[in-house]
Amino acid sequence: MQIQEILNKAQLNAEEINFLLNISDEAELDLLFRKSAAVKQLFLGRSKNKILTIQFSNYCENSCLYCELREESISVKRFRLTPDEVLEKIDSIFNSGITNIILQSGADSHYDTDMISYLIYKIKKEYEVELTLDLLQRSFDEYRAWKFSGADNYLLKFNTSNSGNFSLFTQENKLDERLNHIRYLKRIGYKICTGNIIGLPHQTTEDIAKDLLLIKKLKPEMILNTPFTPQQFTKYQKSPKGDFNLLLKATAVSRLLLSKSNIIIASSSNFFSIDEKKQLFEIGADTLMLEPLAQRELKNN
Ligand code: SF4
Repeated sequence: MQIQEILNKAQLNAEEINFLLNISDEAELDLLFRKSAAVKQLFLGRSKNKILTIQFSNYCENSCLYCELREESISVKRFRLTPDEVLEKIDSIFNSGITNIILQSGADSHYDTDMISYLIYKIKKEYEVELTLDLLQRSFDEYRAWKFSGADNYLLKFNTSNSGNFSLFTQENKLDERLNHIRYLKRIGYKICTGNIIGLPHQTTEDIAKDLLLIKKLKPEMILNTPFTPQQFTKYQKSPKGDFNLLLKATAVSRLLLSKSNIIIASSSNFFSIDEKKQLFEIGADTLMLEPLAQRELKNN
């Protein structure tokens, strides 16, 4: 396969994407990154957006095997903020460069439909920003109620398009069910943010190529591909972290597949160095997710 021939195609298939993900030759990498940078420039210019993430609870009723927040974990200090505490925190940090606020929690039913609706209503009344909910899978009735309250976007990742691996890591949900939720959210008017994890245990580049094609099929307005980060006291704590070069290539391919979608650089400061963030911006990403506020404060205590 010739790289130039692939880059000239309007549609890419899984085999061609897998080829791009496996490039190691510097000159070929340069061609891929130049092309994705040119697509970004053409459709989004030099735009750089900032998203403020407010993590208001780190309780979770799920038990994903790679996650230190899973329900039975005793290694994390748990916290929950009241709706009014959330509003105070937003007020204390908000600045005009922020284009989007993400309200984030684990799967935490402590926050019922009305509590979240109240938060949405107050935030949309006070700030001129898009509001994204990152509350994992909830009921279809709740999605509708929160849309009605003013929420703009919903972040729900599928993590992997390999259904066997999905069930291995995330026991409470099934891949088909997750995809139905994402499609439903889109159908009722949310702009959606979705993506995969790069570097999951047992993952192949063929899997990632299929993930990227699934992202294209779902047509999200925002894409979030995160690197796998082994977390303490989990089954996968000794697994290698996601390879940055592979993430770079996946980001470039995402830009080729969905030229107008926002591509978000994931939040945690330990994911990326400043240089790595710069590289991601250059080759196709356009939005930086700031580190979750509550998490940042916990580290300082
Ligand atoms: S649902 Fe999210 S927060 Fe909860 S255990 Fe799974 S990965 Fe962790």
